[in-house]
Formats: sequence, structure tokens, C-alpha cells
Amino acid sequence: MEHVVTTPAWALIAYLISGVLFILALRGLSSPDTSRAGNRYGMAGMLIAVVTTLVSHELAGILEIAIAIAIGGAAGLIIARKIAMTDMPQLVAAFHSLVGLAAVLVALAAWLNPAAFGIADAVGQIFAVSRVELALGAAIGAITFSGSVIAFAKLNGNMSGAPIILPARHVINFGTLAAILILIALYVLAPAGGAGEGWMIPVIVLLSFIIGFLLIIPIGGADMPVVVSMLNSYSGWAAAAMGFTLSNSAMIITGALVGSSGAILSYIMCRAMNRSFISVIAGGFGQDAAATGGGPAIDRPYKTGSADDAAFLLKNAEKVIIVPGYGMAVAQAQHVLREMGDILEEQGVDVRYAIHPVAGRMPGHMNVLLAEANVDYEKVFELEDINSDFGQADVAFVIGANDVTNPAAKTDKTSPIYGMPILDVEKAATTLFIKRSMGGAGYAGVENELFFRDNTMMLLSDAKKMVEEIVKSL
Ligand code: NDP
Repeated sequence: MEHVVTTPAWALIAYLISGVLFILALRGLSSPDTSRAGNRYGMAGMLIAVVTTLVSHELAGILEIAIAIAIGGAAGLIIARKIAMTDMPQLVAAFHSLVGLAAVLVALAAWLNPAAFGIADAVGQIFAVSRVELALGAAIGAITFSGSVIAFAKLNGNMSGAPIILPARHVINFGTLAAILILIALYVLAPAGGAGEGWMIPVIVLLSFIIGFLLIIPIGGADMPVVVSMLNSYSGWAAAAMGFTLSNSAMIITGALVGSSGAILSYIMCRAMNRSFISVIAGGFGQDAAATGGGPAIDRPYKTGSADDAAFLLKNAEKVIIVPGYGMAVAQAQHVLREMGDILEEQGVDVRYAIHPVAGRMPGHMNVLLAEANVDYEKVFELEDINSDFGQADVAFVIGANDVTNPAAKTDKTSPIYGMPILDVEKAATTLFIKRSMGGAGYAGVENELFFRDNTMMLLSDAKKMVEEIVKSL
């Protein structure tokens, strides 16, 4: 049983070219030097794919499609211009929900009118192989949709970020997943035109919406970005499945690239947090942070300093390592931070930047911000390349980072971040720590022992304001 493939040869070649451009885009995005070129490859690939699809099909509703592209393109442009860097994870989650929904709608359209998609035989029965693709695409798309909606609501603060733990959730989840798989099998094997044709796909979609919701609600706090990346991967597989249904090789290639790169990214994030993928998916992170003494203890003694104190320590230092985190992103302090780094260098101080793989709210978050402020890439180091140098540094300058410096990850087995590799800032002669208050915890919601150490000076202020004052003082 063959698909009715109507794609002309030139279109297949064009799709292949766009696939190659997408691979070059991924490659480009793997380093800050080449990321701009990578983005351009991606845009060119997408343009070729969209134009090829429009030109190679006899489209009745070309006007409607043009209007849809104009509306979607305008919305995308406005959102991309307005979005704050710190809101990127929820934006990505929102976009994934649309990919999931699109896959469900395409699957439903193909199911309702298979002949139009070339996936039915002469009497209008859908081929078995197409049933597999259609059912899988619908199921993965629906899971992606409802899961991404919950991820968006949690990240955007419309819903509490804390895990919601249902009793017997593993039983409910496995039961629902098993039911979906059994229904897909029954649908594929059902006799053509039999009783299952009419109800199985809608029930598969409904159960998949439910399981997407159930899978994401128990996942809490710091695990959410991993989930976003995982849903990114799902959206890719849903698109690849629909690519088969639509006999569109560009969609299959792109879907597989998104699916596998999202899976690899989830794995990298889990490794950086020293968490197993299974434990992230199983959920429950942060549910007992309060019980294990999490939350800041503000009644312990600590040292505070002023911008002048900080400036004095910095200009008298030989080696300074700057550790940026989420707070720098919130305060948009990267530009003035670079200015501070430049002044110190002019005064002969060796200034370097240390980036933790999960600093901020998405991988590469800090790299992007430092690149935006034109910090020289050669001064920016990954954790494993710089961690052993903190012992020789005079000042570790922590700006809006918290969890990624928390020594409890090394010593406190009850801490939710236990085992996460961290930047050893406490080994520097002095640690300067910028945050707004002693009360504000990091993303994982746990106390940071470092604030109360003898060689730590807290600079309690908005990051941008504090660095501006340090620059003035310098
Ligand atoms: P954290 O979220 O641990 O801490 C941020 C700190 O910034 C807070 O202590 C906050 O304290 C301070 N802050 C917030 N706003 C400002 C401001 N305007 N000026 C100064 N300080 C400010 O950040 P990290 O980057 O250290 O850690 C990232 C967390 O995200 C980790 O828990 C990580 O596991 C998690 N995560 C990250 C992923 C990624 O890909 N990057 C993926 C998965 C999880 P205060 O409110 O007192 O100012």
C-alpha cells in the first residue's frame, strides 16, 4: 500500500535543500560566533520550504492562505519584538502548544477527508500505515498541546509553579497511556469501515489531551524548563508524523530535527542539574523544599556592603570572575556590567565571566545576554573550564545568580539541588553577591549558605542600579 505521492521532483530537491539549511542552522546555533549565521540559514530554509509547498500544490484557497500568513506573521513579529528575554521559556511553551494543536487539526482533517490527503484507497478507506501516522500524530500533538498550555500557565505565573500531586497519579497516568496505545493499535487493525472508525480517533485525541495535562501538573519549579524542551521534542515528533500523512518530506526532516534536538537538549539540562530524565518526568520537584528547611532564613548574621566597598575590592583585585544569573537578566544589567568589566581591565584587572549551564531560565540565556552587551567571547567560560580557577581569584562577583552557586548542592543530601554541579565561588578570597533582598530565594526555592559566610559581602540592590553605582565609584 503506497501513499499517492504527487510532489514534483524539483520540490523534493527544494525540500532537501531546506533540510540541509536547517541542519546548518542547528550547527550555527551551537556557538555564539556562528549563531547569527545559523539563524539566517534557518530563515532561508523555512522560506524555501513554505514557498515550495505553496507553489507545488494546486491550492484553491491561496487568498485565505496569504491572509493567514499575513496575520500569523504580523502576530509573530509583534510578539518577538515585545517579549522580554526572561519570558522566553513561556513564549516557547505557548508556541509549542500551537504546533501540537496544528498537528491535531491536520490529523482530524486527514481523518475526515482522507482522499484529499491521498491516504485512502479507491473506496475511501485509509491505508493501515497512514492510520499509524495519523493516530500517532494526533496523540502526540494533543499531549504537546495540553502539556504546553500547563507549562505556559506555570511559567507565566497564571498557575502556581508548585507541583500538584494527585493520589495514585502513576497508576492513572500509566492507565491512560496504555488506553491510548491500545486504542491506536485497535484503530490501525480495525476492519475498514468498521464500527471503530467513527469514535476511536476523537477518543484518542481526548485521552491525549488529558494525559498531557496530567503529565505536566506534577512537575514543579526548576524542572519546568526541561519540560519545555521535552515538549519541544514532542512537537517535533508530532510534526514528523503529520509529515508522513501529508507526504511532505520537509516536514518529516524538520520534525525529526526538532524532535531529536529537543530530546538532546532535555538530556543536557538534566545532566547539568544532575537529575535523571525519569525523575523530572515523574515530577514532584520542590514539593518538600519547605519541609527540608528550604526558604531563606533571614535572622542569621551576614555582611553587607556598599557600591564603594565593592568598587574598592574590585579595583584592588588581580583576578575577578563574574558569575551572572537570572537576576542579571531581570535587571537587564549586562550592558553596565560590561562597562564595569572594561573599566577594571583598563586598570589592569584580569576579568573573566563564568557561565553555569543552567544559569538563568534557559540554556545559553547568559551567553546571549553577554553577547548582546558585546562581551568578548574569549572571556566567557563554561563551568568545567573555569571552576578550578575560583581558588586563585580575588573576587567572585555574583550578579543575580543564586542556585548555581549554592554549596548545599555539594554537601546537603536533603537539598532539592543536591548533586547539581555548581560554580565554586566560595573559594575566591571574597565573594560579592548582588541580589535585592535576603528574602528572595533562587528558582529552586532553597536557602543559600553562602550569604552567611565570612568572606561573602552582600550587595543588596537591584543588579543594574548596584553596578551603575560601582561604575561611578570606579
Ligand atoms: P536563581 O533563580 O537561582 O536566582 C536568581 C537570583 O536573582 C535570586 O536570588 C534573586 O534574588 C535575584 N534577582 C532577581 N531579580 C533581581 C534584580 N533585579 N537584581 C538583582 N538580583 C535579582 O538564578 P540562577 O541563574 O542562579 O539559577 C537558575 C535556576 O533555574 C536554577 O535553579 C536552575 O536549575 C533553574 N533552571 C534553569 C534552566 C536553564 O536552562 N537555565 C533549566 C532548568 C532549570 P532577589 O529576589 O532577592 O533579588
